[in-house]
Amino acid sequence: MRSHLLNGLTAEHYRSSVTEGVERVAAKLATTDRPFTGVTVDALAPRIDTIDLDRPLGDTAAVLDELEDVYLKDAVYFHHPRYLAHLNCPVVIPAVLGEAVLSAVNSSLDTWDQSAGGTLIERKLIDWTARRIGLGPAADGVFTSGGTQSNLQALLLAREEAKPGRAGWEEGDSLAKLRIFTSEVSHFSVQKAAKLLGLSADSVVSVPVDHDKRLRTVALARELERCARDGLVPMAVVATAGTTDFGSIDPLPEIAELCAQYDTWLHVDAAYGCGLLASLKYRDRIAGIDRADSVTVDYHKSFFQPVSSSALLVRDAATLRHATYHAEYLNPRRMVRERIPNQVDKSLQTTRRFDALKLWLTLRVMGADGIGQLFDEVCDLAQEGFRLLAADPRYDVVVEPSLSTLVFRYIPAAVTDPAEIDRANLYARKALFASGDAVVAGTKADGRHYLKFTLLNPETTAADIAAVLDLIAGHAEQYLGESLDRAS
Ligand SMILES: *Cc1c(COP(=O)(O)O)cnc(C)c1O
Repeated sequence: MRSHLLNGLTAEHYRSSVTEGVERVAAKLATTDRPFTGVTVDALAPRIDTIDLDRPLGDTAAVLDELEDVYLKDAVYFHHPRYLAHLNCPVVIPAVLGEAVLSAVNSSLDTWDQSAGGTLIERKLIDWTARRIGLGPAADGVFTSGGTQSNLQALLLAREEAKPGRAGWEEGDSLAKLRIFTSEVSHFSVQKAAKLLGLSADSVVSVPVDHDKRLRTVALARELERCARDGLVPMAVVATAGTTDFGSIDPLPEIAELCAQYDTWLHVDAAYGCGLLASLKYRDRIAGIDRADSVTVDYHKSFFQPVSSSALLVRDAATLRHATYHAEYLNPRRMVRERIPNQVDKSLQTTRRFDALKLWLTLRVMGADGIGQLFDEVCDLAQEGFRLLAADPRYDVVVEPSLSTLVFRYIPAAVTDPAEIDRANLYARKALFASGDAVVAGTKADGRHYLKFTLLNPETTAADIAAVLDLIAGHAEQYLGESLDRAS
């Protein structure tokens, strides 16, 4: 059994074992002709159920054969040009290499004595990102597991900063007075964070959006005004730079003005739109992000990194102290005086992956421009897709994309009942998934069911989009035809 431990004696076994796995995946990538097989839960579950975890196969090749059957064969492949569903990207090869290296060395980024160079690499990438955002000389941050955790930590800092000493806060006040303002289409992790932070059930004030799904600053001003009048404390405004559903970018400069006026923390959730930080063409779309107090970036969305790779950036490094706890066994206070860099002092996590290595290798091989170019390509593709949809009488499309998302709905001329159109669109999405020909997402807009393309694959073409629109129309037509038959 010792032969399975990774060490100097097993280096050769490590090499052959990992190579075998890489060969299988490479073969799969080369031969995948659809993003999905359409396998059902009922078909897949028994194959996994029958495996007895207490009877190991021992042999790597046999296990990989088994894995082929229970996972690789039917996985959903994001690298396929007709995977158009969620905010998942195809990944760049330098990052995958980083993944292999970081898990083999297995550094843990909580303390210097577990990660040495890793800590400095992470810090340099944080500085690099903060500079791209324009957060100023006192900026800092830390890698996180994802946008959800970044948003939670940002709001923890905002909560602590909003308490004693701030305007409106008096001795004896409770967390119940704190309010967070965010648009009605911001990410649900804001609600979850408010709950985890012990805020009241009505702490998150939902601000309406305009026709382009951007937060209405007039409405925000009104809500901030009302908050002050009611003797409540505006803890934070969460602006979204790239909403998950529409890719819409809130008007950051105007929101920053209001935050300054009301002395309120500005958090910019750029989980999706952060790719613009590397863009060669569209950087100006997130102008104003430099005025944030904190920013969420998900490299695993628009920097083409494998899950997970994300960060929280802050304007003022000192605010990260709200996440600090000194444990004698790990990061005692004296280490701060000795200037030993322990990243756990800034993180909600303790043991933590060296995800930064993936971005490091990506930047060292491709450069930021390489990433920005890929993201620009998918933004351009979204524009082309928008033109296709807008010119296609079969479809209604919601907003012109600021990033790479298209929300649309099949609207047959002959059907007027919106509920029936809802059902046709829902059916089309399901039928398409079951066919495996393409994968698209769905959401609601103005109370109705819509379909969604999230374009993050530069290999996807306008022809792919046109072909998938035909497939969707075909499935929807079939549903409506059968529905007519049922009725008659
Ligand atoms: C995806 C997303 C999140 C959540 O990020 P995870 O990495 O999935 O935890 C938060 N905000 C926005 C706008 C997102 O698109």
